[in-house]
Amino acid sequence: MTDLTDLLEARNRHISKSLSIGHGKPLHIVKGELQYLYADDGTRYLDLVNNVCHVGHCHPKVVAAGQQQMSVLSTNTRYVYDGLTEYISRLAATLPDGLDVGFMVNSGSEANELAVRLARAHTGVNDMLVVDGGYHGNTSMLVQLSPYKFLGPGGEGVAEAWVHVVPVPDEYRRKGIDYNQEIRDVISNAGNVAGFLIEPMLSCAGQIPLPDGFLKTAQKYTNEAGGLLIVDEVQVGFGRVGTHMWAFENQDVIPDIVVLGKSIGNGHPMAAVFTTEKIASSLGEMEWFSSTGGNPVSCAIGNAVLDVIEEEELLKKAEKLGRYFMAGLDKLQQKYPVIGDVRGRGLFIGVDFVSDSETLQANAEEASRVVIEMRDRGVLLSIDGPLHNVIKIKPPMVLTKQDIDMTLDLLNDVLRGKSE
Ligand code: PMP
Repeated sequence: MTDLTDLLEARNRHISKSLSIGHGKPLHIVKGELQYLYADDGTRYLDLVNNVCHVGHCHPKVVAAGQQQMSVLSTNTRYVYDGLTEYISRLAATLPDGLDVGFMVNSGSEANELAVRLARAHTGVNDMLVVDGGYHGNTSMLVQLSPYKFLGPGGEGVAEAWVHVVPVPDEYRRKGIDYNQEIRDVISNAGNVAGFLIEPMLSCAGQIPLPDGFLKTAQKYTNEAGGLLIVDEVQVGFGRVGTHMWAFENQDVIPDIVVLGKSIGNGHPMAAVFTTEKIASSLGEMEWFSSTGGNPVSCAIGNAVLDVIEEEELLKKAEKLGRYFMAGLDKLQQKYPVIGDVRGRGLFIGVDFVSDSETLQANAEEASRVVIEMRDRGVLLSIDGPLHNVIKIKPPMVLTKQDIDMTLDLLNDVLRGKSE
């Protein structure tokens, strides 16, 4: 095995400085197994942040499906093969009727690009709405549609004229505000729009569940302004919220376009866009093609991920374990006033750290201390939110009650270290 110093040296030479290392120090990870990661020195880490390896790192069923298909056929979607039609039909069956047409691509960024392109082609309008704090991808256009980036470190600090930012509907820090009116105000300023690109639970904005009715209002006003509701399920889809396969289902809406990513391939690079036949056909005469999107290996892996979600009843599990985890965190909140808020749904949880429970002054320092001390005790967490004070929890869905008990005990130790 290569020595860590050599790896870091090569990394410094060949990998852009724009890509930082996570968890505050280089972790030399050599193996993943379900909810655990193993370092070169044998240390086992409980992974509470990787929502890409949705059914568990290297889930044997997913690995076997990929290996098997790779040895038989890997071609592209200009051919007809069972895996693609089976997979795309299965995905469509999980979505509301009408969202019948799927495009298979390779990353969440590519999928969001296509979704915006479809909305623009369908409406003939360029302008887009997004929520403050949102992140939607790494392409030039998606950085312009990601306040998390353009208002964050290294960003230009202002939105492009065609980008309209809706304030974050944060019921903790921006309580008592008429969020619906805010959407209305932004839309009436914007005029006609192509669409509203929004996550059904806000991730980078600080692990924030949307207030009831928010997506319904967003869709109503967006549709009235000629635009489409594009729901980005990249982080929260595939049953993470427990009650439903898709987080938008908690909001009682049928989006015009749905974007799937990350967990779709359990780490294999895949993503998808689903929409109506009418919206899909707005690309008109122009051919659409992805060289590797929807290839037989991806479809085999995607089918295996769906199998595991069903066989291991991961939605039920996410709901049950999510409740249990949040109840434990609520208890810690009673004990430690640095925890200002515990929020989430299913296995998508945020813990908001404050230095003052009255003013809700964000406590990034304490959140960061907790993440580092938990890492040193073998539990991987990380931080999100524009104020860098929200610990995010979005583990592989194969977590156990024992993992949660251990995490809560360790969190208690770490929090006691400072607060008592
Ligand atoms: N949308 C959301 C909500 C995301 O969190 C991300 C990635 N973090 C993306 C889109 C982009 O996905 P990818 O990194 O696969 O391009």
